Amino acid sequence: MNNSEKIYDVIIAGSGMGSLSAAALLAKKGLNVLIIEQNYLPGGCTSSYWRKGFVFESGATTLVGLDKNQPLRFLLNEIGVELNAKKLDLPMQVRLKNGKTINRFEDINQWICEAERVFGKQNQKEFWLECFKISQFVWQTSLQQTRFPFGNLSDFLHSISKLNINQIKFLPYVFTSIAALIKKRKLNHNQEFIDFINAQLLITAQNNMHEVNALFGAASLCYTNYGNYYLDGGMIELINPILDYILSKNGEIIYKEKIENVDFHNDIYHIKTQKNEYKSRYFISGIPLNNTIEIYKNSKQNKFKNKILKSEKLNSAFQMGIGFWRKKEYQTIHYQLHLPKPLPYINAQTIFVSLSANTSTNRADIENQMVASVSTHWENLNLSIENFDKTIVENFIIDFLISENFFDRNDIIYTHASTPKDWEKWTGRKYGFVGGYPQFMKTKPWQMVEHRLDNHKAYIVGDSTYPGQGIPGVTLSGIIAANKLLADHF
Ligand SMILES: Cc1cc2nc3c(=O)[nH]c(=O)nc-3n(C[C@H](O)[C@H](O)[C@H](O)COP(=O)(O)OP(=O)(O)OC[C@H]3O[C@@H](n4cnc5c(N)ncnc54)[C@H](O)[C@@H]3O)c2cc1C
Repeated sequence: MNNSEKIYDVIIAGSGMGSLSAAALLAKKGLNVLIIEQNYLPGGCTSSYWRKGFVFESGATTLVGLDKNQPLRFLLNEIGVELNAKKLDLPMQVRLKNGKTINRFEDINQWICEAERVFGKQNQKEFWLECFKISQFVWQTSLQQTRFPFGNLSDFLHSISKLNINQIKFLPYVFTSIAALIKKRKLNHNQEFIDFINAQLLITAQNNMHEVNALFGAASLCYTNYGNYYLDGGMIELINPILDYILSKNGEIIYKEKIENVDFHNDIYHIKTQKNEYKSRYFISGIPLNNTIEIYKNSKQNKFKNKILKSEKLNSAFQMGIGFWRKKEYQTIHYQLHLPKPLPYINAQTIFVSLSANTSTNRADIENQMVASVSTHWENLNLSIENFDKTIVENFIIDFLISENFFDRNDIIYTHASTPKDWEKWTGRKYGFVGGYPQFMKTKPWQMVEHRLDNHKAYIVGDSTYPGQGIPGVTLSGIIAANKLLADHF
């Protein structure tokens, strides 16, 4: 029987971290899973690819979630996979416009001393201790409330049964913005601090302090206060072991086939790519909601009508990969750099730079060569930028990195850059939007996209669903969707 005739238990659209998390947990339960991926590589925005002698990251570069009570740790423990991950001594360095350098130490007390050194003693301690306490609560609760947001009575009853006094105590933070938390500590006139906070929130919550609620915002701001890890060969070393596990459980993956249509009749999902038709009892979409509703017309379009974000609310990225000669040792691998003036055309105020580690030998074919991944937000995908010249942006970034002593011009061996159009091609994501749905104050956690796509057996995971962005968030979305599917039907 060829795989077009076979009826799979579950077919999953895309092989991003959201998809793989759900696939691994369902494969563990004995379901046979087929993943259909339009690209030639697995992982989507969490992956690595070889080009011109270098291994570049496809998107994500920072890795958290491997500590106790965190989603990735839970997933890996469940499937018995251990990563060869190294913990970073210093998770990140931030450099402000005025030349000040801030080391984002993992230890909360060391971090508070550093924040006081840079931003002044007033209320830094109180602000960060409150954020840290909230973030600990968020991590702990994430793996307790595994049917959240509730889509039916059973989810609701499950959530109530897991409810504890702590969860009620922290509820008001959902109605409070990070801006309000800052004001409460009288830090709202400290412009340097505000710029720092907004830039940190943009990379972790996709929005600014007025739009990010204190519950999620505090967890975002404290992500450097947990174990931050590094994989020698890049993010593909996270993807491959999970995929190997799925394949070892009779799972399958097909590359270079794009799902164009999903139909449900006779209790079976009929999934059409440009080449074949596949059938399954359950369907999981690992692609954004904006894409999903286009390929699956029977999905609960009404339920999602007010949840789908339009292009003007979504972000993409301008990203550069740079291969260069290693001439020195670096203090850490991740840097958020505030720019002296906004990036041409895109107007971004900061860039994020991730290097291959001093000790890495497998990110370049030739010894003593290394890579830098540079990315920045490209906001409002509704705006077309006239006469956009990519070279001007690339040169601006390179000149700036040279001025910040990352390398000399002569050390550069190879560069390439991508825009929203390239993201759309690489990931198939509508408008080329990446990084997930931004957080907004008006969207409370229980109003975010719920995983059930229809009244039958279809679900959605990934960074347009709750709980949203980043590897920890999409891993959690996969865990929750797998839980809901199993609770609904087994
Ligand atoms: C520049 C950048 C930097 C980032 N930095 C970080 C970071 O440092 N740390 C962090 O935790 N997160 C980071 N993120 C966010 C993180 O990478 C993503 O949120 C996460 O990887 C998204 O996973 P996903 O499963 O939702 O979807 P995706 O990774 O987008 O996966 C979707 C998959 O589906 C495939 N696909 C799409 N359409 C179809 C179709 N019709 N048929 C078949 N296959 C299809 C795509 O090819 C893709 O492989 C970053 C993102 C970007 C873009």
